[in-house]
Amino acid sequence: SNIFFRPIEKINAVIESYPKGIAGFKRYLEIIDTEPEIADSKNAVEFESVKGDIRFENVSFGYESSRRILSDISLSVRPGETVAFVGPSGAGKTTICSLLPRFYEVEEGRITVDGVDIRNVKLQSLRKHIGIVQQDVFLFSGTIKENIAYGDLSATDEQIWDAARRASLEELILTLPDGMDTVIGERGVKLSGGQKQRLSIARMFLKNPPILILDEATSALDTETEALIQQSLAELSVGRTTLVIAHRLTTIKNADRIIVVNTDGIAEQGNHEELVAAGGIYSRLHQVQYSHS
Ligand code: ATP
Repeated sequence: SNIFFRPIEKINAVIESYPKGIAGFKRYLEIIDTEPEIADSKNAVEFESVKGDIRFENVSFGYESSRRILSDISLSVRPGETVAFVGPSGAGKTTICSLLPRFYEVEEGRITVDGVDIRNVKLQSLRKHIGIVQQDVFLFSGTIKENIAYGDLSATDEQIWDAARRASLEELILTLPDGMDTVIGERGVKLSGGQKQRLSIARMFLKNPPILILDEATSALDTETEALIQQSLAELSVGRTTLVIAHRLTTIKNADRIIVVNTDGIAEQGNHEELVAAGGIYSRLHQVQYSHS
């Protein structure tokens, strides 16, 4: 399921009420960047630079008070580490990741980034340091360039092209009638799922956050697109703490660490070889799902 469903819904509501064009676009960005979904506490701090050390300490959470989704979860991720969350549908992988940008508040326990409880950080500052790549990427009616620049409004043309290149979008852009200035979205050129994903990756190269959350697509893409996306994502995650809600075997195998989540919480952790050798849940999942590959 899509984690960011609620915030995205909100963004769409805001967008529809705003005029098209760059002025409207900037205005709208200011709104989504500042809209206080959760009020900052009085002594909330701003992050200056973030190394990307993440800890969940005895975190419990439910969307409704009557139903706990996460009970007493603890985990830590080192700066620059790539961690893949795997496990059955509904286990809570997406929920874990959605607590980090504070789309929801923990009920018990705490989450820290570089040792600071995220409730004591200004929401805008926290989110500035977290990049999200997901399959239902949000695009607005505007040019490719504007859509990429959404990652950083002050970006120069050169930086935008560089981001496009690193996200394997250059070739596509060069074949479009107006290149970077081609209008996409409802009134323009429709992008495929894979193209949209690469566009969201380009945004992240511009945004350059120290922490990444990748909500990996479950939908099938052709092999070539798939390879391009994998390659761009691998490059994007270098030097960033990366949490992946993982569905693809290559992503899982290449992760520094795999965290197996089931309805009881975190069941096992380790890299691919370790978990296969351990003969637990992961090794059984692996046998059932991937015995053909
Ligand atoms: P999948 O692999 O299918 O994406 P997941 O492991 O990511 O699953 P979550 O999406 O975190 O699982 O869902 C965990 C539980 O929380 C599920 O029972 C789900 O129905 C419930 N849930 C998820 N989002 C919400 C929400 N916004 N409101 C209420 N319940 C929710």
